[in-house]
Amino acid sequence: MSYHDFISFVRREFVRPEGHIPLHEPRFLGNERKYILDALDSNFVSSVGAYVGRFEEMCSEYTGSPYAVATMNGTSALHVALLIAGVKPGEEVITQPLTFVATANAIAYTGASPAFVDISRNTLGMCPQKLEEFLHKNAEKRADGAWYNRYTGARFAAVLPMHTFGHPVEIEKIAGICNQYKIPLVEDAAESMGSLYKNRHTGTFGLLGILSFNGNKILTTGGGGMILTADEEIALRAKHITTTGKVPHPWEFFHDVTAYNYRLINLSAALGCAQIEQIETFVAAKRRLAQKYKDFFSSWKDIQFVTEPENSRSNYWLNTLIMPSKEERDHFLQFTNEQGVMTRPAWTLMNHLPMYRNCFCGNLEVAENLAERIVNIPSSVIPSYVQNQ
Ligand SMILES: *Cc1c(COP(=O)(O)O)cnc(C)c1O
Repeated sequence: MSYHDFISFVRREFVRPEGHIPLHEPRFLGNERKYILDALDSNFVSSVGAYVGRFEEMCSEYTGSPYAVATMNGTSALHVALLIAGVKPGEEVITQPLTFVATANAIAYTGASPAFVDISRNTLGMCPQKLEEFLHKNAEKRADGAWYNRYTGARFAAVLPMHTFGHPVEIEKIAGICNQYKIPLVEDAAESMGSLYKNRHTGTFGLLGILSFNGNKILTTGGGGMILTADEEIALRAKHITTTGKVPHPWEFFHDVTAYNYRLINLSAALGCAQIEQIETFVAAKRRLAQKYKDFFSSWKDIQFVTEPENSRSNYWLNTLIMPSKEERDHFLQFTNEQGVMTRPAWTLMNHLPMYRNCFCGNLEVAENLAERIVNIPSSVIPSYVQNQ
């Protein structure tokens, strides 16, 4: 087996004998044009319109989250989710170092700092054992009943795991630890729409969860996000502070809080309504591709294809390889990209970025070891898989 075989395999599956094969491109196979034109014809293209509420309802119904509040992107959803969870300047939010920068940035927007806990080898997301060890070692309970970092003096305001590449973390265990310490759990499910842990959707295990509909995610609205919660009051607050804090009134402009203009526009929501109608077909197509990759790589003893963790159904947003070494990873990246098959390394770990370099860290050995060996390979929904279902 050689890297040439990999290129041939990908070109065959994607039915693209030549030209560029991206890592993840959107598919518009349903009512996208119809709904967008309908939104256009309604003249409501912006911050008001029927598709926003409809898209929220569809997300709520699909995920089983009692409430869903649409936002302009996943990052703004995360920012507001953290604010509502009670995160304040000077506090710390426990998250993982292997994530997209938006996770850490959203924490920083609140004035808090990320504190990093290691990932698990099986899920590539936050490790519950490491979280437990981290809190045991670093957290002390103060007179107010809250848990503080005994070294920095900051209150631990929230725990924010991320379901890496769509694979669910061991969210029940993490939720149990959060419960024990009375620290709110917020889930970054930006990458994992359609992924289940014990048959329940990621993003619905915490006080709040968020989704992203950026152009590279499993569903796209061009740009968009969603806040999920089971608490009606939280949902109303989320709606309020993502829509300028305006107090409803037929004509008066009265705003009772410094809030944000984070709402999703109606044109985007129209796209979202058409996309979410296809989510289960998309998940099935992506799982079928993952199975083919798994079979293909089963005979490569040096390369590990990452499969869904126990108790879960992954949406396999991005298919992932773990290479034997950084050198081999670099070879693979160089070769495949030169051949027009797009592959990418994992993100630089958050604790290595200049703005988060001095943040508080647990032992990050698994993340440090894996980050330089991870490669993502082409993962878009293959249209012929959808048609043949
Ligand atoms: C995509 C993503 C987000 C949100 O991104 P937006 O582009 O703002 O929608 C947040 N966290 C993670 C882990 C992501 O992958």
